[in-house]
Amino acid sequence: MIKLEELTIKKFREGLAKKEFSASEVARLFFDYIEVKDKEIEAYLSLNRDGALERARQIDAAVASGKEIPSLAGVPMAIKDVILIEGLPATAASKILEKYVAAYDAGVIKKLKAAGALFLGKTNLDEFAMGSSTEQSAFKVTRNPRDTSLVPGGSSGGSAAAVAADMAVAALGTDTGGSVRQPAAFCGVVGMKPTYGAISRYGVIAMASSLDQVGTFSKTVEDAAILFKEIAGHDPKDATSATVTYGDELVNPDFHKIRELTVGVPEEYFIEGTDAEIISAVQGVMKEFETLKIKVKKIHLPHTKYALSVYYIVMPAEVSTNLARYDGIRYGERAKSENLLDLYYQDRGNGLGLEPKRRSILGTFVLSAGYYDAYYAKAQRVRALIKQDFDEAFLDVDVILTPVTPTLPFKLGEKASDPMQMYLSDIFTITLNLAGLPGISIPVKGRGDKLPIGFQLIGRPWHEADILGLGRYYEQS
Ligand code: GLN
Repeated sequence: MIKLEELTIKKFREGLAKKEFSASEVARLFFDYIEVKDKEIEAYLSLNRDGALERARQIDAAVASGKEIPSLAGVPMAIKDVILIEGLPATAASKILEKYVAAYDAGVIKKLKAAGALFLGKTNLDEFAMGSSTEQSAFKVTRNPRDTSLVPGGSSGGSAAAVAADMAVAALGTDTGGSVRQPAAFCGVVGMKPTYGAISRYGVIAMASSLDQVGTFSKTVEDAAILFKEIAGHDPKDATSATVTYGDELVNPDFHKIRELTVGVPEEYFIEGTDAEIISAVQGVMKEFETLKIKVKKIHLPHTKYALSVYYIVMPAEVSTNLARYDGIRYGERAKSENLLDLYYQDRGNGLGLEPKRRSILGTFVLSAGYYDAYYAKAQRVRALIKQDFDEAFLDVDVILTPVTPTLPFKLGEKASDPMQMYLSDIFTITLNLAGLPGISIPVKGRGDKLPIGFQLIGRPWHEADILGLGRYYEQS
């Protein structure tokens, strides 16, 4: 009997190799389960049944013929609906892209295809990845599998919920301010955002280009490493894509070296307003590190308090330029109108939801002549100071430990009409996007029936191996 809830990438790979099951069998099981379970969770916006089953048949044929199969062969994955897969819808959960079908594969999808992964479907999100609850989708509200009266977090809530509810073995999301790590923490799965430039953004619908990164959802830290190894790497089609290559220690950590890492705990991330249960859970992780003989010390990141303000200037500025391309002409359906201006008004007016409009207007304002220096230029300078805080801290420590979210998963509707409360959800995650650093959200162990809590490990640029290795050490201990 195949137990979907126990399938990790690693176990799937072993089972397939030992012929305990076929890729087709597993894919069919997933679709049968999704049909029932997703009525309750609503993680998926569209399914790719035919494509996935065809892919599974090819994999099974390769296994039968004794050919060597690639590392993610047949692994059933869910993909956030901002990442293009040729021939499948890519709506960004926006009405303005409701009828859009992707004409090409994103860089990260090309890599996943080459590694043999199969795509179960496209997952729900806050429109254009703007939000922290997945309630701001134009199409549906996703629920937290741990308690369906709660939000799954966002913006990649569909991907997080799909993995948490066993409707996918792993998933991709995007993280501009916390959209992978926060829903991972809320749903009790592992979510990693790598260093800026580690994964191609080509073919990923842009929100804020200097902050956006593709990230992974998985059930274990080990799976996060396996998946990241496959999708990281240079893409000539993305000008910000780095040429760094990752070594074997990403997937096979040397735990002797991991035990030698020094962990820093920044006071600025244990602030008033943070749920006491979260603070004590993360302090518990700190103590566990200490019992594992890992050095832990207090550090300071003094500019942290400005991060949210900086983010809500830089991000909307980039949003306003990125969203300008949805002019009613190039993508989706065109409104009937008398003249060009009217076409813009109608298409953008009807096609974009409240949050993308709010941010486009804010962004246009902070970039406008007369305000540019006061807001945008100043925010960029403070952004550099935030980055500098981390540079200095990393002279002293190798990894930084913090909470992921200031609150436990909240009720559906609780913050939906209060943007400021919603924005505060990302207070501990956006600093990494501003500084371009890798971070991983890992579920705190031993919570039993209590709601999940995540802790965050932050690494030096290109040192994903440190946070993955330490995460695995914690996971296994
Ligand atoms: N919740 C944050 C926002 O609304 C982050 C979104 C994201 O990372 N895509 O902007």
